[in-house]
Amino acid sequence: MATTNETAGKERSLNFLEEVIENHIANVDNRIHTRFPPEPNGYLHIGHAKSICLNFGLAEKYHGKCNLRFDDTNPVKEDVEYVDSIKADIQWLGFQWAEEHYASDYFEQLYEWAVELIKKGLAYVDDQTQEEIRLTRGTVTEPGKESPWRNRSVEENLDLFARMRAGEFADGEKVLRAKIDMADPNMLLRDPIMYRIIHTSHHRTGDKWCIYPMYDYAHGQSDSIEKITHSICTLEFDVHRPLYDWFIQQLGIFPSHQYEFARLNLTYTVMSKRKLLQLVESKVVNGWDDPRMPTISALRRKGYTPASIRAFADRVGVAKRDNVIDLSLLEFCVREDLNKTAERRMAVLDPIKVVITNYPEGKTEMFTAVNNPEDAAAGTRQVPFSRELYIERGDFMENPPKKYYRLAPGAEVRLRYAYLIKCEEVIKDSEGNIVELRCTYDPQSGEGSSSDGRRVKGVIHWVSVPHAQEAEVRLYSTLFTKEDPNDIEEGKTFLDYLNPESMVIGRAFIEPALQNAQSGDKFQFERIGYFCVDPDSKPGKMVFNRTVSLKDTWAKIADK
Ligand code: ATP
Ligand code: MG
Repeated sequence: MATTNETAGKERSLNFLEEVIENHIANVDNRIHTRFPPEPNGYLHIGHAKSICLNFGLAEKYHGKCNLRFDDTNPVKEDVEYVDSIKADIQWLGFQWAEEHYASDYFEQLYEWAVELIKKGLAYVDDQTQEEIRLTRGTVTEPGKESPWRNRSVEENLDLFARMRAGEFADGEKVLRAKIDMADPNMLLRDPIMYRIIHTSHHRTGDKWCIYPMYDYAHGQSDSIEKITHSICTLEFDVHRPLYDWFIQQLGIFPSHQYEFARLNLTYTVMSKRKLLQLVESKVVNGWDDPRMPTISALRRKGYTPASIRAFADRVGVAKRDNVIDLSLLEFCVREDLNKTAERRMAVLDPIKVVITNYPEGKTEMFTAVNNPEDAAAGTRQVPFSRELYIERGDFMENPPKKYYRLAPGAEVRLRYAYLIKCEEVIKDSEGNIVELRCTYDPQSGEGSSSDGRRVKGVIHWVSVPHAQEAEVRLYSTLFTKEDPNDIEEGKTFLDYLNPESMVIGRAFIEPALQNAQSGDKFQFERIGYFCVDPDSKPGKMVFNRTVSLKDTWAKIADK
């Protein structure tokens, strides 16, 4: 098998689409033209991102072009809001289309081609309802039944089709069908519907049309008009390929070819736009960009970077058989990217107060903190220190087990970037809850040294109480509790598997350097996770979304 050099120096074998393209370049033509063809009936999701990375990525790699084409052939479900969001998402991922097209721009050409097929005796107007047509299609083992209208004359078909266009008939009264073979083993070739009547305004063509082409009639011809060389789609379209080829052959137009790859499925995730729309409309989530959604806009709001999503698409690769990818791979990719790019800050989510009894009251000292140990250019910042601090409740244990290196009665711990402190006394309320820890500090131990050179294993984060600001943190987990929410038990719907704790709202005490962060800024809260400033933030009331925790479940799986 041919191989190609990757940047990391590792050899990676070509995926099957790269092989197809290299073969095309060697034997057919060195011009490569792909397209990404979304239907503007929803926001793009991570599955679309896979398709985008593939189509734009292949064009880039082989010095070709990739078009953006809106597959806007169904006016009932489509909207310009979706067109705009789709364009923004593709650009945010870092891609730019060569040409922007709309299937609706081809309506006139598609109509003329339909007339041509009628004239060739290859299409006819059928008066049966879509339901009757479905019922007479036959089964996999039995041939279908020919329509009583199948042998209408060319003249009558031309007349009726023109009158369908002119609006003389109501929705569902007539359809145009291709005349192929009602006994073909491929059911899709049993006189498929080409046009149906829909009296609905279209977001681009308005009321100009009341007949709309079906996907199968529009898609291949649109590819052909744009001279697309490789029309890449997901596996479920492989049975459509003979029809795709049939129209192109009968019309004798540019021979675009279709290739299928496995769609991306993720654990704990639904990806069908119909289901995503249902989540939005039933207000289970707060809109398409709710960080619990698998949409690109939601991932962006949650703190994902374009690089992390591209890296994910790359690692998933291109398969020819359906599979399900572990959500932890996506999390692994964002962690890996943010580890390199996100500045570190200190925030305490579940605070317990520490009072340093031998530290002067009213004094503030500044300590230098490293912004990103992975990136020297990120520099340093100053963090204020005072007599009263918050530390994480989980960083103290009254009766610690062996090898517990954090704070405990009589034990010493390092405060990140600052002093060693020792816990001298535990203060409790009347119910026995710990409310405060009285500690002492070693004045000689600032910024990593201690007076007698003793080493302390535990390092914990903290914020200074008088300098801290309270913020809201939104902690996300999977939206569903079931690994495959598409696998629905009898009598249930996918909504029965919702995770009631998919979003937990908490608070955090944040250091001053976080208090003027801007919407979209990303940080690592040391020892906790990656967080991104939400657009709901206001001065004095910051809101952070947890992008991902620091726990790396993927690395554990990968190590196995
Ligand atoms: P849905 O079935 O959820 O409505 P769709 O496939 O109809 O999605 P389109 O807007 O038609 O959505 O998709 C545009 C392109 O993105 C198509 O080429 C489609 O094959 C691809 N695509 C959609 N979902 C996935 C996925 N999960 N993995 C990979 N590619 C996908
Ligand atoms: Mg579709």
